Amino acid sequence: MLKNDFYGYMEENKLGKIILTGDRPTGRLHVGHYVGSLKRRVELQNSGDYDKTYIMIADAQALTDNIENPEKVRQNIIEVALDYLACGLDPQKSTLFIQSHISELTELTFYYMDLVTVARLQRNPTVKSEIQMRNFEASIPVGFFTYPISQAADITAFKATTVPVGEDQLPMIEQTREIVRKFNSVYEEVLVEPEALIPQNQACHRLPGIDGKAKMSKSLGNCIYLADSADDVKKKIMSMYTDPMHIQVSDPGHIEGNTVFTYLDAFSRPEHFERYLPDYANLEELKAHYQRGGLGDVKIKKFLNNIMQEELEPIRQRRKEYEKDIPTIYEILKKGSEAAKEVAAQTLSEVKKAMKINYFEDMELIREQAEKYKNEN
Ligand code: ATP
Ligand code: MG
Repeated sequence: MLKNDFYGYMEENKLGKIILTGDRPTGRLHVGHYVGSLKRRVELQNSGDYDKTYIMIADAQALTDNIENPEKVRQNIIEVALDYLACGLDPQKSTLFIQSHISELTELTFYYMDLVTVARLQRNPTVKSEIQMRNFEASIPVGFFTYPISQAADITAFKATTVPVGEDQLPMIEQTREIVRKFNSVYEEVLVEPEALIPQNQACHRLPGIDGKAKMSKSLGNCIYLADSADDVKKKIMSMYTDPMHIQVSDPGHIEGNTVFTYLDAFSRPEHFERYLPDYANLEELKAHYQRGGLGDVKIKKFLNNIMQEELEPIRQRRKEYEKDIPTIYEILKKGSEAAKEVAAQTLSEVKKAMKINYFEDMELIREQAEKYKNEN
């Protein structure tokens, strides 16, 4: 379906613009999540352009590579929920829910498995590198190997049109789109093809860890967490990987692969220069000075620290408020999960009808077969 046809189709079917996205409860959320997806979600939620926003805590997916660690997953549900609320996700505007509570998602996953080949899953570059990272090469849990299919179930159950995610998720969205096309062509036009929404700012596509490694990731332990204290954030920034060849202040420095500059690309705005570093008009000037030589790492790190503290302080404060009332947060998740379940159940029922496995509601089938046997006897 062409894009215009797609929106025409949505009009006709009275489907709105719907957001679905989520995170694995494998740790607290970090600034990579924030710039990669979380900040955008809050903006979209508040934009009024979307009819529904669903935010999922993907506990079932987290278990696929944490089989021996159910306690970790259990403990981190609340951590992720607190980070959501602290960032401004609002349960009045967004449905926050827990994946494992929606059994319909597991059912959809099972049916979608028939639409995907093993070879196709093996080609997924993100899953490939995650398998390597987890030393799963010799024996991959089937659940982990097939998580892109379960992600397709999560997205399509809500007929999501828009999935705000970091760049590493693009292959998952592509896989989902393929499943939707296959389902709709084999059965009936039930599912909606989603679009990934990756950050506009290149530096936010895949924020590196403070160690300079390719991706800030809970599993790599190289994160600045949204809930970190001001002191911890400062310590982490001061220890950040920069340019190993930049030894003396007077040495010319490199910008590429320099984590501090990547973070400045992601977080700095012109007004930050006025406030904290008025000797420079903008980031380009700062970069040029660093490349020429004569600009020390401590100065740029202090500047980054000022910017990040400004961004993180209100999040930290809001989190502290929510931390005072944990039972209410579980209540929010429970209500959200109940609401999400209803929507997923509706999609599942359409899917089963299209797949012709809705026997007891299929009056035509019952009538036809009754007729057939009446004639035979
Ligand atoms: P895990 O190591 O358990 O996979 P993670 O840190 O990769 O955890 P996820 O829960 O897998 O986090 O990802 C949640 C969302 O955050 C996804 O949309 C992902 O693209 C985005 N994201 C995660 N890390 C980054 C990052 N470093 N930069 C930009 N976006 C990110
Ligand atoms: Mg991940």
